[in-house]
Amino acid sequence: MTGYLLKHGRLLDPAQSLDMRGDLRMREGRIAEIAPALTPEAGETVIDCTDCWIAPGLVDIHVHLREPGQSYKETLQTGGAAAVAGGFTSVCCMPNTDPPLDSPMLVREILERARRESPCKVYVVAALTQGMRGEAPCDYHALKQAGAVACSDDAFPVQSAEVMRRAMLGCAAYDLPVVTHCEDKTLSEGASMHAGAISAQLGLKGAPGSAETVQIARNALLAQETGCHLHIQHLSTAMGVELIRFFKAQGVRISCEVSPHHLLLTDAACAEFDTDAKMNPPLRSEADRAALTQGVLQGVIDCIATDHAPHAPFEKAQPFPAAPFGILGLETALGCVLLWNSRLPNPLEPLQIVNLLSTAPARLMGLLAGTLQVGAPADIVVIDPNLRWRVNSAELRSRSKNTPFKGWELIGKARSTFVDGVLVHTAE
Ligand SMILES: [Zn+2]
Ligand SMILES: [Zn+2]
Repeated sequence: MTGYLLKHGRLLDPAQSLDMRGDLRMREGRIAEIAPALTPEAGETVIDCTDCWIAPGLVDIHVHLREPGQSYKETLQTGGAAAVAGGFTSVCCMPNTDPPLDSPMLVREILERARRESPCKVYVVAALTQGMRGEAPCDYHALKQAGAVACSDDAFPVQSAEVMRRAMLGCAAYDLPVVTHCEDKTLSEGASMHAGAISAQLGLKGAPGSAETVQIARNALLAQETGCHLHIQHLSTAMGVELIRFFKAQGVRISCEVSPHHLLLTDAACAEFDTDAKMNPPLRSEADRAALTQGVLQGVIDCIATDHAPHAPFEKAQPFPAAPFGILGLETALGCVLLWNSRLPNPLEPLQIVNLLSTAPARLMGLLAGTLQVGAPADIVVIDPNLRWRVNSAELRSRSKNTPFKGWELIGKARSTFVDGVLVHTAE
């Protein structure tokens, strides 16, 4: 296997609190050596990383790769290509496929296919209930044996507290995190955006923040009783941040993620009926957006995940209320996060950014990723943190093009991405 020597970069590894100028050597798929200066060896490819970060490959614990069943939106191959172009080397795919990933056979099938077809490592979050119908828990022991790293009914949140409680007890027994999209459907029925001044002005039905917070509170209380690890997906409300702060202080095993779009955008992005700004949970108020930012800065929010949700152009071309929820995230996440960071009065340090996008999410899902430790798999991204580039949706690797960041100038891009020491992406 070809060896690579990355030279003159800024080595960033939150797992070791490492932030230093230096070189990194990869050999036989692993990180072989890190030092202030390494001498090239025969046959080794040297890559100059001056002015760049050398970081553990980014980890996205919330993506929709649409297989099986919806390969017209995305495939393991195109989703994997989008991931490595965005600097990601590990992703966790959600089970709301057709059929849903609720059996060990389907979990194994996706894992095996992904190993062959995706340039990025793929982990599976299996369904929390059979058929994602919210009625009966799955066989968690079998799902774990098959390789599932967590369970979730993401797009179809369990409405019954009793079913959720049983599912949590089952997952706790096998140490599987319960990953939840918090939404009380009785509060959000028929809504296509956030309930506020903009939805009133547009004449669209909106979902109030309580649609999210009521279920965050319910799930956190159930997690407290059952002892499971509860992970809250795509937090979107100011009150949600406060609830998680409260339950963490109570000692509940609760963690949460926020998406780049909820950190950068508000419901104002829907004002022109742009269906690429339609997702669930919806973009909310400026007060919510600002509170999410504070939640990240204060460490209440553990990590950033994209909720990469590809939809075909013909689906997003429908009128706003009929268009499906969801936007792309993998190829714009890093640039969005560094843009968001650049707007802060006191921006986060590069090490903190890498933690939010790699080390912290890897730890939450128990993945062998997110570190530059010698001996670890050589899943590495070389990032140019200063590159300003414009999003051209036609150039995205994803099979779909639904991004609200089309035409935006973002900051920072993955220059080279390595998975197990193999160069899987180089920026043009
Ligand atoms: Zn969701
Ligand atoms: Zn999702």
